[in-house]
Amino acid sequence: MAKLYFHYATMNAGKSTMLLQASYNYRERGMRTVIFTAGLDDRAGKGRVSSRIGLASDAIPFHGDDDLQQMIGEMHAAESIACVFVDEAQFLSAPQVWQLARVSDRLGIPVMAYGLRTDFQGKLFPGSLELLAIADELREVRTICFCGRKATMVVRMDLNGRLVREGAQVDVGGNEKYVSLCRRHWEEQMSCEAVPENEDSASDEAEAETVPRAIRAG
Ligand SMILES: [Zn+2]
Repeated sequence: MAKLYFHYATMNAGKSTMLLQASYNYRERGMRTVIFTAGLDDRAGKGRVSSRIGLASDAIPFHGDDDLQQMIGEMHAAESIACVFVDEAQFLSAPQVWQLARVSDRLGIPVMAYGLRTDFQGKLFPGSLELLAIADELREVRTICFCGRKATMVVRMDLNGRLVREGAQVDVGGNEKYVSLCRRHWEEQMSCEAVPENEDSASDEAEAETVPRAIRAG
């Protein structure tokens, strides 16, 4: 039975790398895959998925009003598809997540969606909310905070390296940078509370607003 998978993580965990590797594994065996990515994400040029370690592939951009079930159905009728991949899946609409569920249920094609769980304010993205609700299998892609704990959250920083605490969920084409942190260090950053690790390392008030050296270096 084909399933809908959701691979979720924070920024820079290697989701696109995993997607491209998994797609390659199909193609190496002569099986056709189709890769979608969010139309609003122009980091890799329109309709392209690229990873930080240099892998890249053409992709079909999806937009909010696209009917993915219909698009995939037509492509599948023309030439059989072995697996559908979706990058930046946090930008799917709730109806599109259901369309992908029907692709697995009715067309029998597995769908592998990769995306961020939460935004820089710790809120679920709409696509991620629906995927967490109805995907058959949830798989966490892990990366680590500067402290070594699992990073599950992300902070947004502006050009000057200052933390952004408010603003739109998506800042398309901005020059902001994202840093992945564990929940504890994310909360300390977002709340301005620089909670000392112990009494010896208690920092002065002026340091509380700035990002720790370990993050800047990363
Ligand atoms: Zn941490």
